[in-house]
Amino acid sequence: MPWYKKLHWQIVIGLILGLVWGLFAIQAGLAEFTDDFIRPFGDIFINALQLIAIPLVLASLVVGIANLNDVTKLSRMGGKTIGIYIVTSIFAIIIGLVVVNVMAPGDFLPPETQQSLMESYQQDIEGTDEDAEAVVDRSPLEFLVDIVPENFFEAASENANMLQVVFVAILLGIGLIYVKQEKAQPLINVFDALNDVIIKIVDFIMILAPYGVFALIANVIVELGGDDMSRTIELLQALGFYGIAVIIALLLHTFIIYFTLFKIFSSMSLIRFLKGIRPAILLGFSTSSSLATLPVMMERCEKGLGVKEEVSSFVLPVGATLNMDGTAVYQAVTAVFITQAIGMDLTLAQQLTIILTAVLASIGTAGVPAAGIIMLVIVLQAINVPVEGIALVLGIERIMDMCRTAVNVIGNCAVTVAIASMEGKIGDTYITEDSE
Ligand code: ASP
Repeated sequence: MPWYKKLHWQIVIGLILGLVWGLFAIQAGLAEFTDDFIRPFGDIFINALQLIAIPLVLASLVVGIANLNDVTKLSRMGGKTIGIYIVTSIFAIIIGLVVVNVMAPGDFLPPETQQSLMESYQQDIEGTDEDAEAVVDRSPLEFLVDIVPENFFEAASENANMLQVVFVAILLGIGLIYVKQEKAQPLINVFDALNDVIIKIVDFIMILAPYGVFALIANVIVELGGDDMSRTIELLQALGFYGIAVIIALLLHTFIIYFTLFKIFSSMSLIRFLKGIRPAILLGFSTSSSLATLPVMMERCEKGLGVKEEVSSFVLPVGATLNMDGTAVYQAVTAVFITQAIGMDLTLAQQLTIILTAVLASIGTAGVPAAGIIMLVIVLQAINVPVEGIALVLGIERIMDMCRTAVNVIGNCAVTVAIASMEGKIGDTYITEDSE
């Protein structure tokens, strides 16, 4: 197959053309045209992905658990999953802290730029502050209450309720283990068939991915550049060093932590792994949403890496809701960047507080665009930094979101491979994207 027919290259081409179109549209005054006639195709693509997320998780998890035949296996896998998610998040924050302290990007922000950034983005942070306040006011055990829905259909009507759907699927799967085989089998067969159909639909949707990505990126560029390209260039110059610090920390996390994770738990090479999930990484980057990328993560881990369904159908949806390593890196770098910019020195105790609160904040971050910046408020409040400081980084927030979401996706898939290897649930028969 010629290289340009392979899906990941087509997505890359869509991405580059979207960038080129976005820049052209700004110059040619076609920003409104892009918003009216190109953006909707990006929205359709994301909607289509989100549409299948809940049925896919429900069907594949019910089948996966029913096939486990043994509930102790599930609790062992659950414990390992949560444990590895938390440990990798802690490392993510430590890497973020080291990079931001060594590079000190905040020290390079001229006071006049700081002033103008604060003025331009002041209004935008008001909502953010209130949203975070609502989260802080909740009881610490509220998240447990949230996992158990009082009505399944209500839970399944909102993608943000993914953990509730996971909970119901686990209950159903366990129930199926405990009823007679002849009663259970027809229902398992229904979910099994539904699962196969949805995985097929993922393939159909992925045919549209290059066009969807084109539309999404064109829209991001137009929104960023708006009517005033010179302002965007100024922003990129002012915040460029900070952006580079975030990206370096994200890359270090990916290459050091996941490499180590694979060395300890799996025989798969990091490169083979990254190649297997290429389309998922590109989609995470283009959509800025782990939840929207979930169906593709599941398809790639199963078909591209040989992970068995009973592992991927549990570890990935939980990860897409709870595990945000990229967001954790981002929150650590950004919190310290803001303190550097406003000339505040952080004590060791405050840096430790960042580790603790950023772990919680990244867990609480939803897998949707810009959720990480809302939860950053919690980290800033914990170290007594004025929340208004967020205004400093809003200018390039979307680009940062794209990068951190790509790492969130990589992190979820990496933990899935590690758990599958530990549980002996990874086969050597997989279809690489290239041979499809
Ligand atoms: N957009 C990220 C995600 O979906 C969350 C964040 O804003 O950090 O994974």
